[in-house]
Amino acid sequence: MNQLTDLIDGRTRLYGLFAHPAEHSLSPLMHNLSFQRRQINAVYLAFDLTSDLSGAIQSIRELNMGGVNLSMPFKKQVIPYLDELTPTAKMVGAVNTVIHRQGRLIGANTDGTGFFENLRARHYVIKNKTVTILGAGGAGLSIIAAGASEGLRTIHVFKRRNATFPKVEARIRDLARFYQTPIRLYAYDDRTNLQRAMRASDFLINTTHIGMGNDSQSMPLTGEEMKVLLPTTVVCDVIYEPRKTRLLLAAEACGCETVNGLGMLIYQGAQSFKLWTHEEMPVDAVRAAIEKESENKNGGIGS
Ligand code: NAP
Repeated sequence: MNQLTDLIDGRTRLYGLFAHPAEHSLSPLMHNLSFQRRQINAVYLAFDLTSDLSGAIQSIRELNMGGVNLSMPFKKQVIPYLDELTPTAKMVGAVNTVIHRQGRLIGANTDGTGFFENLRARHYVIKNKTVTILGAGGAGLSIIAAGASEGLRTIHVFKRRNATFPKVEARIRDLARFYQTPIRLYAYDDRTNLQRAMRASDFLINTTHIGMGNDSQSMPLTGEEMKVLLPTTVVCDVIYEPRKTRLLLAAEACGCETVNGLGMLIYQGAQSFKLWTHEEMPVDAVRAAIEKESENKNGGIGS
């Protein structure tokens, strides 16, 4: 911390995370390390908001903060308080990054673009590929939007047929029209189409919560269903804790390459960092720092 506090003076710019809970976030580590490496006079703090979001948003202006990230449960709630949304944030209906530019608050969504930036960094080709996406919440829709803008050939989306289905269906229709990309929405329990889509897909992406927290022993698909995957299909999980979800372990048993959510986390942060500072995040140093932190906490990666 000495290096960081050495840099703080009367001109230090404040950035932050508004979330609840916020204390386990890796964003302060990522951004503070990046500010130090890039010699930017700024600090990033995590704010655990238990009350008024409107007051917190107002404080971005009043404290002349550079910007904030939003996480659960504020990604949708923040929208009415902003002056402007990027086209992607508008279509997805969720914001994870607010940029404060000359008194105006601009909402962006870097989750989906961060997901694909990570795949590109790992040398995967995205254009003209077919994907199957499980879940269509904030992360799922952001990945769908980014995937459509990246020129995916077809996107198959599986979501529970519940009260939010019609709304998601309308968003997906708008995204398909805007990006001129075939995006097909199916009920999550439509196993026939799920198996057909999986067999035809270059990427299978889990964007549900299944595999983390209390659900860490669960999988969004059965082991039997996984068997239709070709070994050339890359199986991705947006979850990064644990690093290897049950889904990724089952995919490896099918001979598939796997990608966990850590790279997405780093690259969505890198894109927020660039929007705020116009500088590149030192992603390799950030990844090393996160792995070290995780080793210290868990006594080893993947545990
Ligand atoms: P969200 O908006 O609540 O969406 C969750 C999605 O999962 C919804 O579509 C939901 O279905 C579906 N789902 C949940 N439980 C399910 C079940 N039992 N069966 C079928 N579908 C189920 O949450 P989110 O913000 O998108 O976050 C989802 C995951 O992404 C979390 O694990 C989060 O930590 C992770 N994430 C990772 C990153 C990263 O950088 N790596 C960034 C953002 C989020 P319904 O629509 O039917 O309710």
